[in-house]
Amino acid sequence: MKVDIGREIQQSAEETAGKIRGLLAARNVFSVNLISSPGSGKTTLIEKAIEALRGRIRIAVVEGDMETDIDAARIRRHGVQVHQINTRSSCHIPPFLLLSALDHLDLDAADLLFVENVGNLVCPAEVPLGEDLRVVALSVAEGDEKPLKYPLVFKTSDLLVITKTDLLPYVKFDTDRVKTAARAVNPRVEVFEVSSYTGSGLSSFLERIEELCRRKIG
Ligand code: MG
Ligand code: ZN
Repeated sequence: MKVDIGREIQQSAEETAGKIRGLLAARNVFSVNLISSPGSGKTTLIEKAIEALRGRIRIAVVEGDMETDIDAARIRRHGVQVHQINTRSSCHIPPFLLLSALDHLDLDAADLLFVENVGNLVCPAEVPLGEDLRVVALSVAEGDEKPLKYPLVFKTSDLLVITKTDLLPYVKFDTDRVKTAARAVNPRVEVFEVSSYTGSGLSSFLERIEELCRRKIG
């Protein structure tokens, strides 16, 4: 008898993601799965969100990295709940690790959960985490061909945020090429262009996150 291991793993991932979704729905928490390559500014975006939404939306964060708690330490300085996952050999957050991470958070004291995935544009796209919103970040320093090379993450994301736009004068990056390629695989994707350094574009991105969060939590 042939056992399709790939399919079994995917089925159990879907099941666990379903548990996460149910748990977050029961506690009225809106969750965002934030995916990008290493170094495109995910942690900084979360820090900006915490500061911008302070007093309006209670944010909790799960940080995913192969090693260290460097990012959790950054988030903790902003005075919000945070739990660090170290995936060791895994290049993405598997659903079972997120499910157990939720035990470390007081979800009744949170409205919005940011899950910062392991820096990787490839397999996080295939792994469901029960999220309400999937956001892919791409910095202008990474090259404008990424949606062509790694289409799945652009196809499965609700929002695309192009980061580090302050660097545009110094790099070869055609923003329209990225938008065209992303929309070719995902016509409904919403695109934002931000610089966490200058603050340009941040408010419209964060207002959209807040709007989508309120749509769930009321
Ligand atoms: Mg980070
Ligand atoms: Zn992986």
